[in-house]
Amino acid sequence: MTSDSMDYQKILEGIYSAVEPLKGVGKVADYIPALALVAPDKFGMCINTIDGDVYLINDACERFSIQSISKVFTLAMCLSLKGEALWNRVGKEPSGTAFNSLVQLEVENGIPRNPFMNAGALVLADILLTSLEDPEQEFLAFVRELCGSESVDYNREVALSERKCAYLNAAIVNMLKYHKTIECDVERVLQFYLLTCSLEMNCKELAQAFLAFANHKKTFSYAGVSLTSSQVKRMNAVMQTCGFYDEAGEFSYLVGLPGKSGVGGGIAAIYPLRYSVAVWSPRLNAKGNSVMGMKALELLTTETAESIF
Ligand code: GLN
Repeated sequence: MTSDSMDYQKILEGIYSAVEPLKGVGKVADYIPALALVAPDKFGMCINTIDGDVYLINDACERFSIQSISKVFTLAMCLSLKGEALWNRVGKEPSGTAFNSLVQLEVENGIPRNPFMNAGALVLADILLTSLEDPEQEFLAFVRELCGSESVDYNREVALSERKCAYLNAAIVNMLKYHKTIECDVERVLQFYLLTCSLEMNCKELAQAFLAFANHKKTFSYAGVSLTSSQVKRMNAVMQTCGFYDEAGEFSYLVGLPGKSGVGGGIAAIYPLRYSVAVWSPRLNAKGNSVMGMKALELLTTETAESIF
């Protein structure tokens, strides 16, 4: 089947029937008290092709907490601001450890392995705080323009609820400060990081936002954030190798697309020059990735015989 003749709507319907039996498998991220209240068996999915077609299924228009998917947006802003110099502050190697792991940070003198683990994203938050006049509004303006929706917003209640139990993230940010990897006050960095994680979007908006990464040959310029096509391509490489923490190998093996997950149960991925896709289902596996989301994406690339490999 060629991409033009691919019936993505039918494929989405087939995927939903195939993943439905997984309802009830996995656990919502209850370490963030506000997220424990989410209806656990929701499922939404959206595919956006670079030709402008949009295919939706089920709860694709219901917003959820994007959590760590927001790290892709903060990375784009930091790369645009700092260029290659960014990589002096944070690495770009897979960690093979959990998203909130602290273990390498001590051994590696306070330089996080990559921008997608919490330690790395806290450094990104520090960069935005020190480089932008109004980080909260500028981050929001960037994401709104990227996804074409002015109503996308933070959920401050979720951010506050996470702050109350953010013991590990607080430890990480303190370790970063001790090693002088961050400049700002630790509390400020932590709160801004949690705020970016609290952003709420639906699958349709996420797929639209990720289309800019799928289409790296098109000019990337949104609300003053500009990347060259080479930078976009390299961001995709980091998503491929680091987007799923200690499950990056498994995601590559099963799905074969660059992507990013979040503990809100969302996953966004891209097939370069073809489509972006977002899926949401709140129940997570032991590594903090959506059970139905991973399966749905595995079925998508298997059914279409399309992956980057
Ligand atoms: N805000 C979450 C945390 O820091 C994000 C984690 C995630 O989505 N993997 O724990």
